[in-house]
Amino acid sequence: MDLLEILLEVQERDLAIDRLAHRRSTIPEKSSLAATQERIDALEVRQGELSSELEDRLRHQGELEREVDAITARIASIESRLYGGEVSASRELSAMAGEVESLRGRRSRLEDHVVELMEELEPREAELANLERDRAALDTEAEALRSAIAELESNIDAEVAREESARAPLADQLPDDLVGRYESLRSRLGGIGAASLVNGSCGGCHLSLPAVELERIRGAPPGTVVTCDQCGRILVR
Ligand SMILES: [Zn+2]
Repeated sequence: MDLLEILLEVQERDLAIDRLAHRRSTIPEKSSLAATQERIDALEVRQGELSSELEDRLRHQGELEREVDAITARIASIESRLYGGEVSASRELSAMAGEVESLRGRRSRLEDHVVELMEELEPREAELANLERDRAALDTEAEALRSAIAELESNIDAEVAREESARAPLADQLPDDLVGRYESLRSRLGGIGAASLVNGSCGGCHLSLPAVELERIRGAPPGTVVTCDQCGRILVR
């Protein structure tokens, strides 16, 4: 086989490898996974907000309950003196009764506040439980997508390996300067560095070559590397 025909074969393998790389990077499951991950991230943000709202309320509730307990103890101590018979002065007795009264009022307001806090806990706990359920479903979905992606990637990688092992012995037959020239054209010209000349047209840019140009190419000695004067690609006769 002519060197340039071998170069065309290498070009075919390179294009196949490019297509596989494109397929690998555009696996649809990858964008599904990204979307699922976005939902997981948003869900985690909301979980964090709810958890800290719950913590704040539980802490506040604990403080109020300790205050209620302290008031209850204070009422008990006043009442034991009130009914213990040690205090007899009526003014003092009525002051103590008044204090008990006001402590009870304060305690009742604190208890109302505790109830309000507990009512605020309920919807947040319910939302958190829902989020945890959603999170488990999303994790399962993400896991399934990841394993589907891994399988598709490994199939593509196997195809790439096949193409590469077909390409290597071909490229080995080509002189380094020809390969270098081809590679640099390929990187500048959308992956195509060498093209065949078909019916007077360049297979790379698809433009018809002027008659005088065709004449020059046809007249070149075999093995000469000729290029398309319109796109610069190596032309294979
Ligand atoms: Zn061309």
